[in-house]
Amino acid sequence: AAKSTRGNQYRLYRPNMEEVNDKWLLLETKLHQALKKDVLELHYQPKINLKTNKVIGMEALLRWHDPDLGYMPPDHFIPFAEECGLINDIGVWVLRKASAQVRAWNQVHNLNLRVAVNISPIHISTTGFVDMIHEVIAETNIDPHFLEIEITEMSMLDYTEDLINTIKQLRALGITISLDDFGTGYSSLNYLKTFPVDVLKIDRAFVRDIVPEKSGIAMISAMISLAHALNLQVVAEGVEEEAELNVLREHGCEYVQGYYFSKPLSVEDFTKLIVDSNM
Ligand code: C2E
Ligand code: MG
Ligand code: MG
Ligand code: MG
Repeated sequence: AAKSTRGNQYRLYRPNMEEVNDKWLLLETKLHQALKKDVLELHYQPKINLKTNKVIGMEALLRWHDPDLGYMPPDHFIPFAEECGLINDIGVWVLRKASAQVRAWNQVHNLNLRVAVNISPIHISTTGFVDMIHEVIAETNIDPHFLEIEITEMSMLDYTEDLINTIKQLRALGITISLDDFGTGYSSLNYLKTFPVDVLKIDRAFVRDIVPEKSGIAMISAMISLAHALNLQVVAEGVEEEAELNVLREHGCEYVQGYYFSKPLSVEDFTKLIVDSNM
């Protein structure tokens, strides 16, 4: 907060380092407890095949409601968790939870839904990541073909041979790898030649630009063409309008996700969707 006084017009409020440390410690303690007490939640946003209009799977998204702090958006606490070292435990928790849930949905309702989990570049670069995935698969009994890992394009900034090897091993298991937030991160597309991914997720920033601006359509069209030239499938995220959907369909985008079809849903609501839509 800025405080203005006579003669000293703008005296910027300087956070006292002790206060900052206290806040961080509180947040860290709370996040740690939330994880331990299993009060974090996952919501699931359907992904739709544009050719068939059917739900083919979902993205698992973290939800954290703290009694004192209120709703904490993942955009805020994930970077924090990366910083304070909780991100790997969170990632394992999400993988376990999402795999068990989708395995149950598929079994009970006789479906072939694939669940996508967001994994931090820090976590996927950790030694033992592939072993941990093996454990989660064994524990939850999920068919790896129903598991997808989303990593952000930012992960490619300083990728290593090790990361490429990890991704190759995951794909060899049957796991799908997606490049999240495509178009927002890296200025060079060179990494796309080297990186063994399956899916490009076009960031909502580009989807939002589609209508009525013409250059927006040109961008989307070029991104889809690029993906297809590289044998990648395309998911567009953040689709809210029918007009956006039509442009995406026209340009051959395979899958969409967004409020137009559905917000991320609680387990209960996703179950209703499965039952009601007779998928
Ligand atoms: P993301 O992976 O790119 O996820 C898409 C975000 O867009 C989600 O926000 C989703 O709720 C939101 N969204 C979906 N459709 C629409 C739409 O039509 N319009 C608008 N305006 N938004 C839409 P959310 O759930 O707040 O998550 C934000 C980010 O936090 C995610 O971006 C992801 O980077 C991160 N995140 C969420 N859950 C996890 C997790 O379990 N692990 C990690 N490492 N990161 C996560
Ligand atoms: Mg994602
Ligand atoms: Mg994204
Ligand atoms: Mg994002």
